[in-house]
Amino acid sequence: MKRNYYPKIFFAVIFFLLLTKCSAQQSNDTKEIKKGKSMSEKVSKSDKDWKEILTPEQYHVLRDRGTERPFTGKYWDSKEEGIYKCAACGEILFESDTKFDSGCGWPSFYAPESQSRIATQDDYSHSMYRIEVLCSKCGGHLGHVFNDGPNPTGLRYCINSASLNFEKKEEQKK
Ligand code: FE
Repeated sequence: MKRNYYPKIFFAVIFFLLLTKCSAQQSNDTKEIKKGKSMSEKVSKSDKDWKEILTPEQYHVLRDRGTERPFTGKYWDSKEEGIYKCAACGEILFESDTKFDSGCGWPSFYAPESQSRIATQDDYSHSMYRIEVLCSKCGGHLGHVFNDGPNPTGLRYCINSASLNFEKKEEQKK
């Protein structure tokens, strides 16, 4: 008796095509994940390296979690249009259109350029509770965030000038 193999061959082909499609999909997904990881690549340096790269004031604030004196930093009163980058690793952190005059003596922003640019952690130093703000890329200390900011977020990112490098809007176009 002759058996009909056509249905089996047909299903085998369909199965093979589905497998190929799935593996192609998985390969694309892997590419996406890899792309995301490289965009948020971390910067890690030894203390010795940071001391060579940063000025003593920048090192004190960024790596030693220091605070500059109010009304002394170069950006607390700046109203120029542009972006503020991390002085240690160059990550874009804040934009001038979210900067506001808080009267506290430090550059104040109501939002970071993107939430992924910064990290936050509880800070119990100096016998008080605050939320510390760090650069998500290099872990550098930037300042603190408080909930007494203006709309639309109600937040005040109080940031040390020493941890920032400003880039004017015209310079960005070049
Ligand atoms: Fe950084």
